[in-house]
Amino acid sequence: MKKSFRIIKFKKNKPVLQVKNLSKSFDGRPILKKINLELYPGEIVGLIGPNGSGKSTLYGSIIGQYKVESGSIFLSQKDITSKPIHERAKLGIAYLSQYRSVFNMTVLDNLLGICQISIKETDKQKLMVEKLLTEFNLQHLRNINANSLSGGEVRRLQIARTLINEPKVILLDEPMAALDPIIVQDIQKFILKLQSYGCGVIVTDHQVQNLFEIVDRAMVIGEQTIIASGKPKDILKSEKAREIYFGSYEN
Ligand code: ADP
Ligand code: MG
Repeated sequence: MKKSFRIIKFKKNKPVLQVKNLSKSFDGRPILKKINLELYPGEIVGLIGPNGSGKSTLYGSIIGQYKVESGSIFLSQKDITSKPIHERAKLGIAYLSQYRSVFNMTVLDNLLGICQISIKETDKQKLMVEKLLTEFNLQHLRNINANSLSGGEVRRLQIARTLINEPKVILLDEPMAALDPIIVQDIQKFILKLQSYGCGVIVTDHQVQNLFEIVDRAMVIGEQTIIASGKPKDILKSEKAREIYFGSYEN
């Protein structure tokens, strides 16, 4: 897919998300050590690293699923480190799990259910649902149970759902995993579309090529920390990143 797809240029003045010196262990086993990252509005950043390197743990720490040992998280310069998960969501952090996580109800009700929690007026809830059904090519599936959707369709529904809270930051965990190439291209377009909403996006995937086609820059996580960060062509030159992740991969 061509990069000409990019819709907006992001402004690199104030980061929308900042993670400072974040460390997280499970049962005394360090998973992340002193992680630092910044994400700007409208920017798409790829997060890559071997299985079990802590990508999902980093997401869980940012959304508030996990309590961290040390470090701070700022959303639009506001310290949210001690805020619970639902408040972080309300303040603008959205998350797409690497697992298939939809309710056992119609596509329409999956969207309406979330709208009813976060939007007060009934007519605005309906408007939002119709807008998302149209924008994410789900209108023809509106009355289908979400459990019957194909892999690509369920990803579209999950991505659409992240937008209901008008997020500033969207964390996508393997949104293109286990999809056929043509469906990957479809999902890539929808990820790029998130930029038109001005959101900062972090996205993980194991297919480096698929990821590199849509990101502005990438970070490689390994040995509990970020070992390389920058434009795809630059991190491919990092010896450490080649040793831990890329191997003999060539772009
Ligand atoms: P990735 O997403 O990069 O594949 P994860 O963040 O899922 O990696 O996992 C990083 C490490 O943390 C793994 O060794 C995993 O077993 C461990 N881990 C993840 N979640 C938990 C948990 N809830 N309790 C204990 N260990 C966990
Ligand atoms: Mg993971």
